[in-house]
Amino acid sequence: MALYPRSHPFRRYLAGCITALVILVLIGYVIFRIVRPFVRDSRSRPTDTRGPRPSPADTAAAGVFLKLGNPSGAVADTNQPNNYLLVNQAYALSYNRDRGEPNWVAWRVIPLDLGPVERNDNFRPDDRLPAGWRRILPTDYTRSGYTRGHMCPAGDRTSDQALNGLTFLMTNIVPQTDDSNQGVWLTLEEYCRDLVERGATLYIVAGAYGEKGRIRNRITIPTNIWKVVVIIPKGEELGSGLSPNARVIAINTPNNDDVRYDDWRKYATTVRAIEQATGYDLLSALPREEQDRIETVVGNF
Ligand code: MN
Repeated sequence: MALYPRSHPFRRYLAGCITALVILVLIGYVIFRIVRPFVRDSRSRPTDTRGPRPSPADTAAAGVFLKLGNPSGAVADTNQPNNYLLVNQAYALSYNRDRGEPNWVAWRVIPLDLGPVERNDNFRPDDRLPAGWRRILPTDYTRSGYTRGHMCPAGDRTSDQALNGLTFLMTNIVPQTDDSNQGVWLTLEEYCRDLVERGATLYIVAGAYGEKGRIRNRITIPTNIWKVVVIIPKGEELGSGLSPNARVIAINTPNNDDVRYDDWRKYATTVRAIEQATGYDLLSALPREEQDRIETVVGNF
């Protein structure tokens, strides 16, 4: 460094050049980080329409929960954002992006599903949704006048803390009046769990349709919440058809404030009536003649 003294103009010029270079590199890096995700997105969007891959275990669980059929032919394809299949170890569902809630949720309950686990209460957004889709937040329901109504109830997943937690994903939730949630709906859930405690296996599909309004223009408030429960008696398994001992409950409840003290049986209907209201084919895995037989009668309970 004896070549140029500290105060020499060339040395000051060199220092200025190095400082400018460092600043340019930093600015370039920041721009690169900002722009990169958009470049990657626009490149992958036209070809890759599949959302995040479920694990093999989740796919296997979905096969069990959908053993009686996939009511709307839901698939994990981002071209079909309002009938998008999501699966995990607790339930399988068809998500409706525009409604911000599931169309339907399907699950099975066996005696081993009922245990000592406390209600998890960790409502949270579902990160399985494809990139760029709005995730409904637990706080989106705040001061809406509606409760966060589980489709697959926390009470049906009490054998394991993690499984219980899965029922609190916001994709399993619809806006439900407190009277429905704590009234007619709860009493049917308890009736069903009582059957399982006595050895039955249940295949359940529950969903919501209609529009009473919107919450924050993000979530549709359904007019109706329905449920179909196929009851396989103790000691029997679901085969390719239903045994003569199997029974079916179908209810279609108004999402209103005046249903708290109503007996759920008041809203008993046929599976066929729910199919007509929703456009779905429920129990579609059963032979058509069997569907025609069991979907057209109101069960007696
Ligand atoms: Mn059907």
